Amino acid sequence: MESLKQAILERGKALSDQVLKVDAFLNHQIDPQLMIQVGQEFADRFKNDQITKILTIESSGIAPSFTTAVELDIPLVFARKKKSLTMSDNVFVSQVYSFTKKESNTITVSKNFIEEGDCVLIIDDFLANGQAALGLIDIVKQAQASVAGVGIVIEKSFQPGRKQIEELGYRVESLARIKSLDTGQISFIEEN
Ligand code: 5GP
Repeated sequence: MESLKQAILERGKALSDQVLKVDAFLNHQIDPQLMIQVGQEFADRFKNDQITKILTIESSGIAPSFTTAVELDIPLVFARKKKSLTMSDNVFVSQVYSFTKKESNTITVSKNFIEEGDCVLIIDDFLANGQAALGLIDIVKQAQASVAGVGIVIEKSFQPGRKQIEELGYRVESLARIKSLDTGQISFIEEN
């Protein structure tokens, strides 16, 4: 997606050869027009998949998931990293090791919102080692729902997340695929 790649080049920063900072448009300040385009692109890629729900993880997955949910006209559910006071014990639980925070989080989703028979599109802001996506897939499986695929805004293709998810048989659609962040230079895998 060209406008996303342009935003990454112009407004992103390689903090190291492993970590990309995009807090100017995705992780802190949010660019609403860009997020609308992201939503349109995901919706277009998954328009024939009879998706009934989007599942993401708080907080940075919410903006791109929300615009996709508007386009597909379906509900969005976000997994919580901390259990809310109003949440009962009626929850699905999974463990996710955070790439950026280097800590394990217990994520929860109410059993009221993902149900047997749902066809779920999982969306997240980044794909690194695949832990967040695998935790969300685990929750969909616990609900006896199906996974339509995984939509990623920025994939770091030099890390093993895509391979792990594809090996389990799931489709991965990434809007920007980063080949390398070496020496502070951001380069992409070029796709047609
Ligand atoms: P994974 O679970 O695939 O290892 O990592 C994905 C999660 O870690 C994303 O939800 C994202 O919040 C965070 N993350 C991973 N790599 C980066 C990165 O380079 N930059 C930012 N801003 N977040 C990242």
